[in-house]
Order: sequence, then C-alpha cells, then structure tokens
Amino acid sequence: MKPIRIELPTPFDVGPVNVYLFTEPEPVLVDTGVDSEESWAALQAGLAAHGLAVADLQRVIITHAHVDHLGAAARLTAHGNAQIHIADLGYEWLAAPKRKWEQRIAFYRDYFLVPCGLAAQAQQMVIAYMTYAAESSTPVEPKRITPFKVGDQLAMGGLKWEVLHMPGHASHQTCFYQPTTRQFISADMLLHKAPTPIVEEPPDGKTRRPSLPLLLNSFTVLEGLDIAIAYPGHGPLIHNAHELIRQQRQRLQSRKQEALDHIRQGCQTVIELVNTMYAHYPENARIAGLWMVVGYLDLLKAEGVVEEREIGGVWRYFVKGD
Ligand SMILES: [Zn+2]
Repeated sequence: MKPIRIELPTPFDVGPVNVYLFTEPEPVLVDTGVDSEESWAALQAGLAAHGLAVADLQRVIITHAHVDHLGAAARLTAHGNAQIHIADLGYEWLAAPKRKWEQRIAFYRDYFLVPCGLAAQAQQMVIAYMTYAAESSTPVEPKRITPFKVGDQLAMGGLKWEVLHMPGHASHQTCFYQPTTRQFISADMLLHKAPTPIVEEPPDGKTRRPSLPLLLNSFTVLEGLDIAIAYPGHGPLIHNAHELIRQQRQRLQSRKQEALDHIRQGCQTVIELVNTMYAHYPENARIAGLWMVVGYLDLLKAEGVVEEREIGGVWRYFVKGD
C-alpha cells in the first residue's frame, strides 16, 4: 500500500508538516508533527478518518530530529504502546534533547553567531529561540526507542523500504526508498523549495562542517535513484523529483553567484550578505537566510573563489585575486 499523507499544523514559517500513515498490515506512522494541542487534534482526526486511534499505532518512524517531525514522539508514547524508531545518528535528539540543544546553543554562542557579524540583539533572539526549544522538548524513554541503521530495511505497508542517509538539511536525516514501486519518503531532503542547510554543532564543538556541500552530495545520490513519486515532509506529493532537483540546483547556483557579486561590490560579512540578499524577509525570519548565505560562502570557499579572513573576531570575505 501507499503512504497516506496527513497534514498537521505547526507554528513555524514553513507551514504545515506532513506525516504519513500506513494502515496495513499494521498501523505505522512516519513522523509525528509538533507537540501542540492543534497538531494532536489534527493527528487524531487524520487517524480517525482511517478508522484508527493513536493507541492502534504499532510503530512510529522518525525521518529526522527536527521539532516539526518528532515533537510529539513523547506524547505518542504516553498514549499508546508504539515504539519510536529513529536512525542511531539521531537517537540522542530523542532520548536527551535538552543536552543536544545545550551543545548547539554553546556552539552558536561561542563559535558561530559572533563571527557571522550578528548584532547582540539578533544573537540573543537566536539563542532565546533555541533555549525555548530546549525547554519545551520532552525526552522519550530509551526503552521506547528502537534505533535503526543506514542501509537497514524498514517494513511499512507490506513492503521493504531502504534507509538512506541524506545529510545536508540535518546531518542525521534519513529518507526511505522503495525500489520495486519507486516510492521515496523524502522528508526534508526533497521539498518544493530547496531545503535549508542548517548549521549544526560539530562533533568537536568548534569546527563547523559545511552543510550546503553535503546537501548537494545528497542531491547527487537522489539523481541516481529511479523515483516515480516522492512523499515530502512539507507540501503536496512530488511527481517530478528529478526536474525539481535540477531546478533547485540551478537556483542555488544563481544565488551563490549573486553572493559573489555582492562580495565584489563590498559586502564583507555574513550578516551584510544576509541583509542584502534577504532584504525581502522580515528581520526575525532571516535565520533561514543566514544558513543559506553560510552555505553559498562554503561553496565559494571550496571552489577557491572567495577567501575568508577573521578580522576582529568577525569572518570577512574577499574575492581571490581582486
Ligand atoms: Zn520539516
């Protein structure tokens, strides 16, 4: 059987999130939505439309540990017997979310926001949001978590789905591919708009791993798959996966080129580039722009076109040879 899309509300700019339901041979849910009364009611209604209740769910499978995708995991365990399945890569975000958030906050505070050139108030806003996310997260008891591995096969809807590692938007993100029916549960890897390369705390706590190059590598993996239909984490089903990837690659290339032009014209810091390239965003929504700009700079640095110099604690960018 095919996954049934259930759209759940979120309080975020991204809009609603999709969870997917398999009713046969046993009820399985992919992702959970956020932990809110509105989302919980919508989930119950979505299950009821197929004659099911939360207590009927046998397994809940998480694609990646972002709050719109796993926020209600703990609540689901409190209202039924479902095991929560997540890649071992993302396990800690489920079992110990506060500790993970603390690591991310420490990295942003000590190694990321200042060198990006953010003003004190903007720094505080980002940290305040993360602190709120940490405080409002609820851990899932370890005995209710079943980790899976990249390369495993998950049984859903009477078929075997391959677990693929798709870093870029989240370093631990997994997507699920069903080769005989060419179905792909794409999470936030393949969306109607290119995914945001979120900056994460690195394993050593200091040295950032570039996210946009990882995302482009994941696109390359997707290009090697035969995908008839994709089930994204947000928005309607996708029937033109390969065309969409082509368009998104093109858009990323042209925005990267714009970033280079702005550097030529005198934009020197990350935040100057954000304010120039995302002038159309309200100021409190520019964090997404910050991640994109850092991504374009990572590509330009990797290509050897731009060099980064830390001056007075702030990263400044120069076109090589200018
Ligand atoms: Zn999402």
